[in-house]
Amino acid sequence: MSGIFSISRFRMATDGPGISTLIGFSGCPLNCQYCPNPICHTDRSQWPDYSARELIDFVRRDELYMRMTGGGIVFGGGEPLGQEYFVKECALYSQKTLPDIPLRIETSLQASIKNVQELLPYISLWIIDIKDLNPDVYYRYTHGQMDLMWNNLMYLVQHAPYGQDSIWVRVPRIPGYNTNRDIQKSVRRLQPYVKHIEVFSYRKPPEKREGTTE
Ligand code: SF4
Repeated sequence: MSGIFSISRFRMATDGPGISTLIGFSGCPLNCQYCPNPICHTDRSQWPDYSARELIDFVRRDELYMRMTGGGIVFGGGEPLGQEYFVKECALYSQKTLPDIPLRIETSLQASIKNVQELLPYISLWIIDIKDLNPDVYYRYTHGQMDLMWNNLMYLVQHAPYGQDSIWVRVPRIPGYNTNRDIQKSVRRLQPYVKHIEVFSYRKPPEKREGTTE
């Protein structure tokens, strides 16, 4: 069962260059306090069950826009690395029907190294939200272990077939969780390994704003 909770078309330069289609996979091992897609945690059996062929055939309707703008297909979520075999099936079918359309992934890298290895040959851009590299901040915000993400990132740095340009790391400002100093420390730790580092800000969801507890 594929468990796709959304397909967002015509995304402009938000998931790598050009116009992209973002496929939202249900399921995520993290529990981020300001998760923009809490719906991904709901039971996957309620979502449409695409085969890889059905999904890529659907996405193909925007092939022209992708080709004209250098866009691509983006596997996101949720955590697409949790459905690595299905993503691989999509990649194999896409190679046949949409040759040279880039395949990208948006991930927290919270998965076994085997899942990362399974997809390594197919993904030309890894967009990684690392949260924060202070393990305490990471745990407080996500309830996950930072080491798993970091070890996977280091593996990617050494083995990604498309090289350093295929790894983009995002470092969020997380209101109430990390400080500017934490962010600077994360960036400094990443700099020897990653060329493309983007600092950006999370928004607190309305129910966590003023007057509520975190
Ligand atoms: S990693 Fe992404 S999808 Fe998963 S809980 Fe965090 S923000 Fe939500």
